[in-house]
Amino acid sequence: MLKLGYNEATTKENSSVEQDLILCEKYGYDYIELRLDMLKKYLGSHSLTELRDFFDSHHLKPFALNSIEQINFQDEKGWNELVKLFTFACEVAEAISNPYIIVVPTMTDTYNQKNEQEVFEDTVEVLIQLSDIARPYGVKLSFEPIGDKRWCCNSQRQALEIINAVDRDDVGITVDCINFYMHDKGADIASIRKIPKEKLFVYHINDCDDLPLGVLDHSDRIMPGLGAIDIPAISAAVKEVGYDGPACLELFRPEYYQMDPEEVIRLGAEASRKYL
Ligand code: ZN
Repeated sequence: MLKLGYNEATTKENSSVEQDLILCEKYGYDYIELRLDMLKKYLGSHSLTELRDFFDSHHLKPFALNSIEQINFQDEKGWNELVKLFTFACEVAEAISNPYIIVVPTMTDTYNQKNEQEVFEDTVEVLIQLSDIARPYGVKLSFEPIGDKRWCCNSQRQALEIINAVDRDDVGITVDCINFYMHDKGADIASIRKIPKEKLFVYHINDCDDLPLGVLDHSDRIMPGLGAIDIPAISAAVKEVGYDGPACLELFRPEYYQMDPEEVIRLGAEASRKYL
């Protein structure tokens, strides 16, 4: 059985770290994935010690920080900025005993122009460099392929080849329902079953509107059970691998940003529980 998890993207425009913590505890979530942009805001009027104290005195625990993006093919300036944000994430993770940081491949405006070998070599190199930085903080990297073809690594198969080549205990993979679906409408379920148990770090649960690939976007994510994704098949594959961590609800739906965050978080728990 999986645990119940919440990713702050789901109410990022109508809530705050303070509110998400209280509401997730209230509705029985086991884990929360904090967002770095929301954390920066939180730290304007709170300390990391306060955040740590919250987790020490409640059932809810931190799981993964979101996210370090555009990791590939950076120029020097971009890389330095990325490392600065990544180091901030490592410091937070260490202070609150948060085990994972989500890292995401680079997106371009049009379809990705790099060939698979170039993406493979660059990602392996970047993940090794980031893992070198993260190691002293005791935090692990969970690499998340993004299914749309604008992202240079867009399949579970490609991501696993990269992770296997990196071959480090602290570099693993995220399975995200819509990212898996966006690649080929979920045809290659075997690519999830091939992930070794010790490399499957994070599972993001979500559904999406039934739109053609290429049109479907992250804003079309919807509560589990209301859309086109075969979530039972993906959850079963993740469990077959031996994953028993949280299924973290991660949505970016504008409609949910117009709602009372308490209602979204309550509905999210109810919808996600069916797939644990
Ligand atoms: Zn995700």
